[in-house]
Amino acid sequence: MADRSASQSSVVITMKVTTTPAAHLAFTNLAYCSLSDLSEFAIPGSDLFLANVADSIEDGTIALNAVQRRHARVSADDMVTITRFVPPKKFDLTLLALELEFVKKGTKNEQVTLFFFVVVAALVIFETMHAYMQVFTVGQRVTFEFHGTNYILTVNRAVVEIDEIQTNGIERGMICNDTYLVFEASNASGIKITNQREAATRKIFKEKEFDLESLGIGALNAEFVDIFRRAFLYRLMPPQLRNRLGSKIVKGVLLYGPPGTGKTLMARQIGKMLNGKEPKIVNGPEVLSKFVGETEKNVRDLFADAENDQRTLGDDSDLHVIIFDEIDAICKSRGSSSDSTGVHDSIVNQLLTKIDGVEALNNVLLIGMTNRKDMLDEALLRPGRLEVLIEIGLPDEAGRVEILQIHTKMMKENSFLAPDVNLQELAAQTKNYSGAELEGVVKSATSYALNRHLNIEDLSKPVDEENIKVTMEDFLQALRE
Ligand code: ADP
Repeated sequence: MADRSASQSSVVITMKVTTTPAAHLAFTNLAYCSLSDLSEFAIPGSDLFLANVADSIEDGTIALNAVQRRHARVSADDMVTITRFVPPKKFDLTLLALELEFVKKGTKNEQVTLFFFVVVAALVIFETMHAYMQVFTVGQRVTFEFHGTNYILTVNRAVVEIDEIQTNGIERGMICNDTYLVFEASNASGIKITNQREAATRKIFKEKEFDLESLGIGALNAEFVDIFRRAFLYRLMPPQLRNRLGSKIVKGVLLYGPPGTGKTLMARQIGKMLNGKEPKIVNGPEVLSKFVGETEKNVRDLFADAENDQRTLGDDSDLHVIIFDEIDAICKSRGSSSDSTGVHDSIVNQLLTKIDGVEALNNVLLIGMTNRKDMLDEALLRPGRLEVLIEIGLPDEAGRVEILQIHTKMMKENSFLAPDVNLQELAAQTKNYSGAELEGVVKSATSYALNRHLNIEDLSKPVDEENIKVTMEDFLQALRE
């Protein structure tokens, strides 16, 4: 029997080390032992925490895998002392971030796959670690199993963001309630786990590949993260983790909001990001063919590639992203349209069958877009269909500055933007303008500037390119139009 002394603070338990295969344990610093309620206990100096009781483990023993035994510098049959974990003095959980680095990579090393793999790894770690309030120490190795392969991660750096927190020169970090994941796409071998949500969200897009600004998208960072988190992360999880979390794959997203706010822009980038190629974009009114019966065929054709892949490749099929612009045109509330032929009904049915019917496709993500959510057939928005609803609203003032910056970037880089142009001021004057309208303002201001330089009398005269300047007055004039 384990020897457990009476005093609360100085509980010391002695246990005998037994071995266990690595695959049993998700993480190296969770050690199974024969006692329950030991999550605040650790092997001193090793950060090995004691986890749940495992029935198969004998009384008075602690089961450690090879990596753990090395880490704790013990061998099988050694006796180890376990004490209550005492957090370092200035241990402020909310200040820490961790960076993990892969030391062994998966076999598929295509960038995107690897990146997603890293995301999954982070999620697995996050979910598990979070439950146990795990402490990490720099240099510590963490093993986990994913699709039958054991991966080893090392904790590369514990970023102490505000205060210097060190214990004996060892940097530590801990995942807690405030911890959020940051995915760094610029280097697929690195992941940061950090605690500041806003900072985290912003940070992702400061990284090269997901820099929305460089993709020409302004003011939609939060929405982008939302779509990513709600629609895609579950797809990337191993099925068993998904089952444990009780979540089903999201098959459809609806982006709704006023026209010109960047829905198409964003859906297209997301599609590209997910499978590296241009997504299929169709437009409601176009699909709605003049000829009765053709529309259903059009809808069927849309899914043909995905169906083919699912049939031939099964679970290995790539994700097919299908973007449906103006989806309200074909999925109007049934019975509400002026259409009396029942065509709309059968198209909606066709679409629903593809999404969740007998022929349900798991390799499809449908991104529907509409300016008129109120017009949509309710049936389309039920769970399992276009269930993730994301509103893309008009940009606020800060958002308008971002969008104006994006659309004046080129002229600024090429010195066509006069120094008096104050984007902040323009943003203040363009309340309720959409991204598309702001783009229009920039175009119009540019045309005023060009107009000054063109010699209308003699168009063959060369334009003095170097001196073209788009001024604040050009912008103000564009606003007055
Ligand atoms: P929606 O699909 O919401 O009607 P679009 O994505 O088609 O709008 O936007 C039309 C154009 O307006 C885009 O191609 C882009 O040039 C500009 N635009 C709209 N929203 C934004 C934005 N948030 N950031 C940058 N440009 C934008």
